[in-house]
Amino acid sequence: MRRIDRTTSFLVDPEQVANDRLVLVADEAAHAVKVLRAKEGTPLRVVDGVGGAYTVRVLRVSKQELVCEITSTQRDAGEAPYDLLMYCAMLKSRNRLEVLVEKLVEFGVGSLVLVETSRAVVARRAVSRLERIVRSATKQCGRSRLMSIETGVSFGTALAREGAGGFLFHEGAPARSQFVDMLSGSAKANPGESTRRRFAALVGPEGGFTDAEVAEALAARWQVVSLGERRLRAETAALSVAGSIHVMFGNGPQRRIDQ
Ligand code: SAM
Repeated sequence: MRRIDRTTSFLVDPEQVANDRLVLVADEAAHAVKVLRAKEGTPLRVVDGVGGAYTVRVLRVSKQELVCEITSTQRDAGEAPYDLLMYCAMLKSRNRLEVLVEKLVEFGVGSLVLVETSRAVVARRAVSRLERIVRSATKQCGRSRLMSIETGVSFGTALAREGAGGFLFHEGAPARSQFVDMLSGSAKANPGESTRRRFAALVGPEGGFTDAEVAEALAARWQVVSLGERRLRAETAALSVAGSIHVMFGNGPQRRIDQ
């Protein structure tokens, strides 16, 4: 993972970045002025949500905006050295969903896709509040990319989109199919691997996946895997998947786990 600058970040719309200038507007500008008392010459850290991280110096402050000069630029600061797509059945509880979103951002997940399964509540929830949580968690943890959120994707579409090699998490997976064993096997097989790893995970709803869905996943050459004997809540399962990948691979491709 690229080094993280731990000063408070501000979010800028990528369209407000041009050459050596960027402009903070609305809440971000107000926050910089009210909380940090930003004025001419104040240094700030700004991220654009698409991988750009900037060290800037405030040039001009007005009620509506802060015009800043970019003094240095970093690509993908605070981002994981892998791509993790988390497919998760829609959670019934809005609170649990919000906690899940915040923590997945911290673990470096690139996309959260809320999937409709046979036993999941079919609900296309507004994502604007979830996106606000993403923005705030991104700034808090030092990432430079916003995790995307997609809703209303069918189980079949999720399987087809990823093709072979995705992981479907299932309480009834064979005891030998432990996700953590597969992860450590993959790390040992490719120590110091320089290509970027990609993981797709699919976690089911409170009622679990149906036998037909498990069969469909196997037919699509997904791996049906276990997180151990205990039944975890869906959000705990999703977070332990993201957390395991973060711990094993989050410090860069040079990390070996077999030493
Ligand atoms: N009774 C359900 C079942 O039979 O699968 C329990 C579902 S669990 C509350 C919600 C989801 O979390 C599951 O569909 C699965 O994706 C994941 N999960 C929970 N515990 C798990 C475990 N021990 N191993 C693998 N996945 C698990």
